[in-house]
Amino acid sequence: MDFMTRTNDADLKEHLNRSTGFGDSSDSPKVLVLFGTRPEAIKLAPVIAALKRSPDFRSVVVSSSQHTDLLKPFLRIFDINVDHDLKVMSQDQTPNQVSAKILNLLDPILEIEKPDVILVQGDTTTAFTGAFAAFNRKIAVGHVEAGLRSGNPLSPFPEEMNRRLISQLAAFNFAATESNRENLLRESGDFDNIYVVGNTVVDALHFILESSETGEDLGKLLSKTEGMKRILLTTHRRESFGEVMGKNLSHLRKFVETHDDVCLFFPVHPNPNVREATYQKLNGSDRIFLLDPMDYADFVALMKESWLIVSDSGGVQEEAPSLGKPLLVLRENTERPEAIASGVAKLIGSNADLFEILEENYRDESWIRSVREIENPFGDGASAKRILTVLKEKIRISA
Ligand code: UDP
Repeated sequence: MDFMTRTNDADLKEHLNRSTGFGDSSDSPKVLVLFGTRPEAIKLAPVIAALKRSPDFRSVVVSSSQHTDLLKPFLRIFDINVDHDLKVMSQDQTPNQVSAKILNLLDPILEIEKPDVILVQGDTTTAFTGAFAAFNRKIAVGHVEAGLRSGNPLSPFPEEMNRRLISQLAAFNFAATESNRENLLRESGDFDNIYVVGNTVVDALHFILESSETGEDLGKLLSKTEGMKRILLTTHRRESFGEVMGKNLSHLRKFVETHDDVCLFFPVHPNPNVREATYQKLNGSDRIFLLDPMDYADFVALMKESWLIVSDSGGVQEEAPSLGKPLLVLRENTERPEAIASGVAKLIGSNADLFEILEENYRDESWIRSVREIENPFGDGASAKRILTVLKEKIRISA
């Protein structure tokens, strides 16, 4: 019961005792897993698969569909069956409108399903709103990838605040690394519900590497660019929109056009800000491949075949070290300092000269070559198993 000791609310404690199986229910505990975006689906897929395999739990899967088209291929590839789809996506919604829909639509599901625990992941509006809805029904919240902090409550917006609020609501904070645990303790010294389990993205990567094959279209592009230095780019974060994105795309184009043996692959995010800048700056170059968003198996295959990855994504900062690939992070700061500290990634702020940095690494490849030897700071691929072990231990299973 140690996960509850930081609340003085006796009523809440009693309810959590009951709802987390401390009572004498003979059913195995029910875990509701909620996601809504691509990275949440990737990182919760291993947990959903482990729950499905385990005889110790019942599970329910809910998608808010905060992303729609981006999400679908991931459900297929990970064989995720959605029990309830909230279908909240519509064009140009504010975070408040998304939140209101999720609260409204999730509440009756919580009432009917009566889960013992709800698992949310990361920092999206879906994750925060789901945790809040569960808390209001006195259902224990498990937060996967807890303890990431940028240090600035307004950046990334609204994700940093979502993370902080979920930590307060959670009965189980599943941190990926020791430094994530330290972040939580710095914020609230009395957190006694932190479990360092590694990052489930490593589990997802292992699964994909073992079970999937590269698609035909990507196979052809890889053959066509055999022997070249492939740069893989992803950029879609709000902070990058506008001038900074335009400048970085121009620098990448100039670099590709300067060297015959360099090519660029860019799966272009559907956000109109990204699309517009991309077609303005990168269209019409032979060695620049502008692609649709890729399914996970192809994206992982392309990361593996890259010379260098350039990205502002959060998940990619964990995947690059897992694959031993060098990464330039297009951000002012990162809530994943482990990738930088390990030497796999370098932070490229908005004032940096990306073209010059690329040139330096073209002339001297020692950093690029050294990266494959670096140990992955984000875990070993057994995070989902650890999460279930904690839940099993804490939610006394009456079997
Ligand atoms: N990703 C993918 N296909 C793509 C681009 C990205 O499968 O075309 C994956 C990538 O491997 C990572 C995740 O999507 O795991 C990152 O999602 P996103 O950049 O949307 O979110 P963030 O990680 O920044 O929260």
